[in-house]
Amino acid sequence: MPEETQVEIGKSLAEFIIYDIKSDESGGRIDTTEHPFTTGYYTDVRITTHYHEERFESSIFSILHEGGHALYEQGLPMDWMYQPVGGSSSYGIHESMSRFIENMVGKSPEFWIKLRHPRVHEQVHREHGGEEPRVLDVLPARDEGNHRRYIQGRVV
Ligand SMILES: [Zn+2]
Repeated sequence: MPEETQVEIGKSLAEFIIYDIKSDESGGRIDTTEHPFTTGYYTDVRITTHYHEERFESSIFSILHEGGHALYEQGLPMDWMYQPVGGSSSYGIHESMSRFIENMVGKSPEFWIKLRHPRVHEQVHREHGGEEPRVLDVLPARDEGNHRRYIQGRVV
């Protein structure tokens, strides 16, 4: 799937999970990098992803994962900005938010039914010889060896 189509889908995913990349107050944005990560807090929360034309689902799940981190950061209490009580509570809680969006939301049939992005369904249809597989049946399982880590203040 062409990168520009994946970028379009990524923006619709951000909107779907309510990761704010549009308003001036959010500072949210999606950029490209080799390995996806989230950085920032409060009013400047950015994520990155990568686009593989032969594996479009990779960007979908990385945006959902990093978007989960971003939702947590955008949801921190503004009244306590920059105070210890206003920061994220732990890396474990952070990762639980990203995993919840990626796995519980993103790998549910309801998500794919609701998403109904025509380009996703076209691509899956084309790759599977004109038959109509359920999208979840053809997406590869997540590589569990690809652990996310917290490196130099960035959730990856
Ligand atoms: Zn993570």
